[in-house]
Amino acid sequence: MLILRNVTYSIDGRRIVDEVNMQFKEGMSYSILGPNGAGKSTIARILMGVIKPSEGKVLLDGRDITDLGVTERAKLGISLLWQEPARYEGITVGEYLTLGEKLKVTEDELRKVFEIVGLSYDLYLRRFVDKGLSGGERKRIELASILLLKPRYAILDEPDSGLDITASDLIDRTLRYLKKTGTTVILITHHEEIARKTDFSYFLCGGRVVRKGFSEEVVEYYKRACGKCPLLEGMRDGH
Ligand code: ADP
Ligand code: MG
Ligand code: MG
Repeated sequence: MLILRNVTYSIDGRRIVDEVNMQFKEGMSYSILGPNGAGKSTIARILMGVIKPSEGKVLLDGRDITDLGVTERAKLGISLLWQEPARYEGITVGEYLTLGEKLKVTEDELRKVFEIVGLSYDLYLRRFVDKGLSGGERKRIELASILLLKPRYAILDEPDSGLDITASDLIDRTLRYLKKTGTTVILITHHEEIARKTDFSYFLCGGRVVRKGFSEEVVEYYKRACGKCPLLEGMRDGH
């Protein structure tokens, strides 16, 4: 189990993440739902070890991993799909996905993963991961790389952003595939219909968890708040 315990992250005295508690159990899927600026990507960076909390702890199976960096956490099976995909000039999609063939994957598995992310295997395998690819295409390729890695925890920061109308089906296929590989998904979004696809949700706003519970219930609350921050309306609840 992956846990954030009383995690606060401050910049210039401002609490971007404010005493957050979250638990991610094996075999479940989660969403972190909230408006722009809620602190969602900051939570993703804290879980991945890109940044360290100002206060509080990150625990994995009871072990304190707060001081571990990205590489060490990746070795423990935590991976992150960034909100803004990176570029790797000079390598092909195939080389990128197989880590230069260090990752042993069968052609069948590669084809399957291309199908899930909605890209043609034949058209993309030998393309270069450079500015010739659109943002949406790069995002799909990064998602494919996470599917091939089969991590214990996959943090997906707005996997639907920058994608077209087919994104909803893509999320369905991704969640189904990751369930089979035994990966616990932490899906970050501000779209209620995306959050609804997961088992359990945290509604984050103003850096705080204002509601948590089964996704159906949290999404209803989020809809009632019109996706806005109830903290600002003085209707804080849960925690
Ligand atoms: P979300 O992903 O929910 O849209 P973020 O976690 O990216 O939100 O950011 C939460 C808030 O913290 C925003 O108001 C953002 O501007 C601010 N913030 C995040 N990172 C920094 C930073 N490095 N310096 C200053 N402000 C930051
Ligand atoms: Mg955002
Ligand atoms: Mg974000």
